Amino acid sequence: MTITAVPDAGGTVAHMVATYTDLSEQKRAQREIQRLAFHDVLTGLANRALLHERLCEAGREVAKSGEYGALLLLDWDNFRSLNDAMGHPQGDALLRLVGERISACAGKGATVARPGGDEFAIVLHGICKSREHAAAQAESVGTRILQTLAAPCRIAGTDYQGSASMGVVLFADQTLDADALLKQAELAMYQAKRTSHGSLHFFDTQLEQAVSERMRVERELRAGIAAGELRLHYQPQVALREGRLAVVGAEALVRWQHPGRGLLAPGLFITLAEETGLIAPLGRWVLRAACEQLAAWQNQPRFAALVLAVNVSAVQFLDPGFTQDVLDLLEATGASPAHLKLELTESLLVRDADAVIATMAALQARGIHFSLDDFGTGYSSLAYLKRLPLQQLKIDQGFVRDLETDANDAAIARSVAALAHGLGLAVIAEGVETAAQRDLLVAMGCTTFQGYYYSRPLALADFEAWCRQALSA
Ligand code: C2E
Ligand code: MG
Ligand code: MG
Repeated sequence: MTITAVPDAGGTVAHMVATYTDLSEQKRAQREIQRLAFHDVLTGLANRALLHERLCEAGREVAKSGEYGALLLLDWDNFRSLNDAMGHPQGDALLRLVGERISACAGKGATVARPGGDEFAIVLHGICKSREHAAAQAESVGTRILQTLAAPCRIAGTDYQGSASMGVVLFADQTLDADALLKQAELAMYQAKRTSHGSLHFFDTQLEQAVSERMRVERELRAGIAAGELRLHYQPQVALREGRLAVVGAEALVRWQHPGRGLLAPGLFITLAEETGLIAPLGRWVLRAACEQLAAWQNQPRFAALVLAVNVSAVQFLDPGFTQDVLDLLEATGASPAHLKLELTESLLVRDADAVIATMAALQARGIHFSLDDFGTGYSSLAYLKRLPLQQLKIDQGFVRDLETDANDAAIARSVAALAHGLGLAVIAEGVETAAQRDLLVAMGCTTFQGYYYSRPLALADFEAWCRQALSA
């Protein structure tokens, strides 16, 4: 609205004139110009200019978050000959269909662009902080896209079957140049075309090998869990009581009896299981095996008092069905909840603390105990600690290892023991390998131990034999 004063002959303003202008059309035109400048007219996707801008943005985001992002570049195989053969209007229709299929596959958070011709680009913004996991995610999105594109495209009544080849490059903090990234993705894409149409290649071939290795292990682990290849080993937990050694229980540690690679330690597969969701069936197997063992011991006077500690991953613990799963298992196996101790790690606490406390309280009400594993290595807030229904802190082996030589480690171990006493909690030290470490721990007020000094983790029969011998000593 414009208002103009209209003075009379004497110069006094007696009235004003207001003029209204409708700007809708102008605004619409501005938006349209903006859209045309940054979007591809044919598919409505981001064009090269906007892709460039989004890549720069994504670069700034990952620099802040410490996560990895990915650029996926795909090119329709033999588009030119197709375009010539079926006519340009049909070629256009194909490109539109391809754009729609990619957008549907790529998910909400991704940027989908058509930088030109028969090329399409997908930007996956911060995926996660692990490079291999991010690569595996990018690979899975890329493979999904290639699979949907391999389905026949119906254009003007004819089914047309084609394929696309894809190049993938990861970016993090240090790789910010959008042009260089596009170039790398393009190189990988040409490599894919040379290898076989419809395939996916990483710019970094080492990463590519790591990803395919990882996918192989994931496949094998999935099959291995189903085929009964998991085993439980038991590491004794002992206490010094009035100078006498008592076996109070054991920690159940999972192993994977791999058909080709032998007995594998959890360090080789737990993280992968957590990242791929396999921790759910794995964790359930461990809990069931532990409960069955407890139930079997209940009828043997020698073992009836043992408490079995079971490691529970954060992902597993935060599953809404966890409490019920555990209660069902106890019910089904007849194991006594008072002999089951769940080991949680501090990483759990940085998640939803209220949910964690609620789950712990529900299980504790049934008699299950909790121990905080690897204590001191995470970011526990002491304020949380006092709210947690815990029975035990576990001094991490990282502080025990150099107890005799490193004054800082000794100070931390001593503080953890004092903290436990102050909060009315029990304390156990793990990774005890020498009598000197044990003596220092005793002097700090920690009298329960686990470590190679007493025994390595053992298969069931060996563990039971070890207990018999320790009890008769
Ligand atoms: P953790 O719970 O802290 O288990 C202690 C690890 O330290 C075990 O390794 C054990 O063999 C090792 N250890 C015990 N005493 C000594 C010692 O005196 N010296 C040294 N150097 N090491 C000692 P392991 O069995 O390879 O397990 C590694 C980790 O894998 C465990 O750490 C735990 O975080 C995870 N894990 C094991 N079993 C399971 C499971 O069933 N579920 C889940 N979610 N995680 C598991
Ligand atoms: Mg543990
Ligand atoms: Mg530990």
